[in-house]
Amino acid sequence: MSRLAHTLWNDKHPVIMIFFILLLGIAEILIVPPAWPLLNDSRKVTSVILMLLPYIFLYASANSDPGYITPENHPHQMTLYPYDFTIFHPGQECRTCHILKPARSKHCSICKRCISKLDHHCIFINNCVGYGNQHYFLLLLFFTATLITYATYIGFSILSNEIFKHLPNWTWRGKGYVWSQYFNIWAWALQEYTRIGGVTLLCLLTAPLVWGLLGYHFYLIWAGTTTNESMKWSDWAIEMADGYAFKRAIPSNRQKDTTIEPAWTRWPVESEQVVVRTEDGLPPIREGVVGVGEWERVWKLRDVENLYDLGFWDNLKDVFWPRYGVWHKKERKAEDARNNGRSNADSSATSSLRRK
Ligand SMILES: [Zn+2]
Ligand SMILES: [Zn+2]
Repeated sequence: MSRLAHTLWNDKHPVIMIFFILLLGIAEILIVPPAWPLLNDSRKVTSVILMLLPYIFLYASANSDPGYITPENHPHQMTLYPYDFTIFHPGQECRTCHILKPARSKHCSICKRCISKLDHHCIFINNCVGYGNQHYFLLLLFFTATLITYATYIGFSILSNEIFKHLPNWTWRGKGYVWSQYFNIWAWALQEYTRIGGVTLLCLLTAPLVWGLLGYHFYLIWAGTTTNESMKWSDWAIEMADGYAFKRAIPSNRQKDTTIEPAWTRWPVESEQVVVRTEDGLPPIREGVVGVGEWERVWKLRDVENLYDLGFWDNLKDVFWPRYGVWHKKERKAEDARNNGRSNADSSATSSLRRK
């Protein structure tokens, strides 16, 4: 029993995903047979397409690589995002995978691997949501929400038509009826058509949850962050409010330590600030911290830049079309040319990162 509980809590298993599939499947088995003869052709086609899409994107989210970081792809993973020197600092090693953590990555204790741009581990898809499958996850949420909303609409529309057969002056707005009569009529329809009524009510109640989750993920994209990073940002907000956070400038021409951070990334911008916390609430005195000039105390999140926020559309593009070097081919070419001109130690930066 305790081993089972340990597995359910700590390991990958499809129990919740099976529950999700059963919930969808049983609701469909309940509502489709009685509703089907009452649908016109265009509604039949729409229903079939909408019922298939969540399964397709559930399969895609569950079976795609969320961005597993392996020793082989590590050099590539390092060049996806630069360190922001605020929530991601270079030189931190994953204790389990023994690799340098790329910016925006996190180790998932359930998948037992480091994941690129990890958002969260999702028990409904039995997989992490990360760089590699975030778009499938968003499409799964969108089409599940759309299906549930459409089912709510179709369900009430069928029930309203059935009421009309008994009450010829009936409209769904209930014109000519007082509130109590109106609700009694609907209650009668729900009882008379239990299967359609039950599933319709379930859809009505669950649709806001799925839309809410989708809305939350769009908010995260708008803010240029992930579920994982938003937790780090809220920790920072507390440190800042308490007066323990300081920032200072990072010059753009600084010399990078290419044994712990990539010489270049495909991201169009680099951090111009370093943000650190101190134990005593006094400005940092540590030697060797990146950046130049005086330390400035920061009180609010809005006083620091989020390097990973390029604006809503570019953030969205990064989720759906995360192509390599999509924004700044020119800059990358220039950077490559510069790297080629340097010593061998510099141009083999990625292989030294890998050794690390
Ligand atoms: Zn790891
Ligand atoms: Zn995971």
